[in-house]
Amino acid sequence: MAFHRRTKKIIARTPGELDAMQAAGEIVGAALKAVRAAAAPGVTTLELDRVAEDTIRQAGAYPTFKGYEGFPASICASVNEVIVHGIPTADVVLCDGDLVSIDCGATLDGWVGDSAWSFGVGELTPEANALNKATEWVLHEGMKAMIPGNRLTDVSAALEQATYRAEEKFGVDLYIVDGYGGHGIGHEMHEEPYLSNEGKAGRGPLIQERSVLAIEPMLTLGTEDNAVLEDDWTVVTLDGSLASHWEHTVAATAHGPRILTRR
Ligand code: MG
Ligand code: MG
Repeated sequence: MAFHRRTKKIIARTPGELDAMQAAGEIVGAALKAVRAAAAPGVTTLELDRVAEDTIRQAGAYPTFKGYEGFPASICASVNEVIVHGIPTADVVLCDGDLVSIDCGATLDGWVGDSAWSFGVGELTPEANALNKATEWVLHEGMKAMIPGNRLTDVSAALEQATYRAEEKFGVDLYIVDGYGGHGIGHEMHEEPYLSNEGKAGRGPLIQERSVLAIEPMLTLGTEDNAVLEDDWTVVTLDGSLASHWEHTVAATAHGPRILTRR
């Protein structure tokens, strides 16, 4: 989803609004943990969706994804070569060695939290494990640029540079998925601005004290090229290589980045 309207600053939330966003975000964290605990060989991604939806609703929140632009489920469940936006279904049965990415959102009192993580079902191959560890690390390195006074693309550049460093650190070739990235977030899941996962530093709107972004690197082992399947949702790597996706909703504060979707 693209956001091209120019704004000079990324909206600064009040301290109370950040607390409200964190309350929504922590429900997402709980749902992601419950999904991971339920994931095992033989379990379908539709069953994982039920686990997430139950967790969110029992906490008094609404699963943001459900009905979003017609999306039919509470999570995106993206297995192996699926990068993002996989639709949960009884047809996808998890197998030992699968790399599963779960993306989830919750709305509580009008505020949205959005977060994703990827994990192995059973044991991953060393290469898949390196990809997944690298993507998580890139998220946390990129987050460090969520500092008041930085500009939007300082985060993009931090994510890109971290990806290059991760290739050394984790011993794998990594590719940054083209055309997808993070976003502003608040009352709506996708607000301005769009946040690229690569690019030159020092451009775009200013990050203020208590500005919030969803930061979400998506990396693959083989290609940046991708395609959307005929269901109009599922995004896959063009070469069938594995993909990993990690996301947190993060506020910039004078004391450093504050993760609003802690697990
Ligand atoms: Mg997400
Ligand atoms: Mg997001």
